[in-house]
Amino acid sequence: MSNFEQSAVVEQSPVVELVETKGHSSGADWLARYSSSLMGVFGTPQRVLVRGAGCLVWDADGKEYLDLLGGIAVNALGHAHPFVTSVISSQLATLGHVSNFFTSPTQIALAEKLLELSAAPAGSKVFFTNSGTEANEAAFKLARRNSGTESGKPRTRIIALEGAFHGRTMGALALTAKEAYREPFEPMPGGVEHIPFGDIEALRNAVDDTVAAVFLEPIQGEAGVRPLPAGYLKAAREFTAEAGALLILDEVQTGIARTGKWLASEDAGIVPDAITLAKGLGGGFPIGALVTFGAQTSSLLSAGQHGTTFGGNPVATAAALATLHAIESQHVLDNVRAVGEHIRQALPAVDGVTEVRGEGLLIGFDLDADVAPAAVTAALDAGFIINSPGPRTIRLAPPLILTTEQADRFLAALPAILQTAKDAQ
Ligand SMILES: *Cc1c(COP(=O)(O)O)cnc(C)c1O
Repeated sequence: MSNFEQSAVVEQSPVVELVETKGHSSGADWLARYSSSLMGVFGTPQRVLVRGAGCLVWDADGKEYLDLLGGIAVNALGHAHPFVTSVISSQLATLGHVSNFFTSPTQIALAEKLLELSAAPAGSKVFFTNSGTEANEAAFKLARRNSGTESGKPRTRIIALEGAFHGRTMGALALTAKEAYREPFEPMPGGVEHIPFGDIEALRNAVDDTVAAVFLEPIQGEAGVRPLPAGYLKAAREFTAEAGALLILDEVQTGIARTGKWLASEDAGIVPDAITLAKGLGGGFPIGALVTFGAQTSSLLSAGQHGTTFGGNPVATAAALATLHAIESQHVLDNVRAVGEHIRQALPAVDGVTEVRGEGLLIGFDLDADVAPAAVTAALDAGFIINSPGPRTIRLAPPLILTTEQADRFLAALPAILQTAKDAQ
């Protein structure tokens, strides 16, 4: 048994004992109940999952899956990680929630840890949230506070990129580019402009002293794992610093070891004004964070100007501390680099794969036909969970503890999965 595996002892959530199964508990039974009780915004869920262990999950009909999506880059240490589980349980049994009229040692220790991991300069600070979109809402409000200029002209503009995904609440949605997400909810909070992806000249032309902030994802995850070109972050830092605009990096998907580094932006040789984190931070437990760099940016939001009831609660911050500790002590960064590289080297040889992108265990690859959604279905039938962010793009964001052997199981099955997907067209 490797470091990362664990025996699966829990057969089903104990909560199942509390719910009425009405004599039936197959996946189809649950989905019928789902469709009459849950809002339809997610469409029909692909499966009803009842249990997980490491990189494996099981559905209500007992079928096993290798999870290569990790709850969309969330389950950094897989499912039911023993250390994270025990820290969450014991924190909950000690102190669960206190509100932000109070603080707790776990909250303070996690803030200190995030400042250390992000190599933040003196005066840097952390604001905790419960999700990625909330971290970006906080960043949006931070940007609004960067409102004045020396010339007296107001800074009302915010720059984001075409293809950007920053979340679904109104502020984060205004930063998100996709028309289908935005259009039904217009008018958006004002001032956001989307400029062409990866185009340094377009950025140079857009950024002046009317810009409050530039929001960038180092790798656009939802757009199909598209990395910014080399030199882009450095140029963005230069232009924003000159114009007095904030450079805000959305590392909600790319942060916390996902790319084989603590932050995807850490090799860019820049100090941003803020980063946002969420997805992998709590190892599956909901938590997000806005980290502001330096004393000046960190004091833009003053007492009373922002808040949250649940954000930074003892259980969520304990979950994140446990996750960060396990990533360090189990040498997970090395695993992410090695297994990610292994997959990226193998993929181009697979018939039908035309392009491979990404870093570490955030991997996107394009297919030679619009069969990505059909490939997701075929993969499920073959016992693998993958994702299609576009009609011909597949995304993998597995637990960071994925083994080479598990990756090879998927790579061996992929040709048949793609063939099934094509046959289904
Ligand atoms: C997922 C994601 C978000 C939104 O996070 P939620 O927790 O779903 O609100 C924001 N930005 C990026 C880059 C993401 O991948």
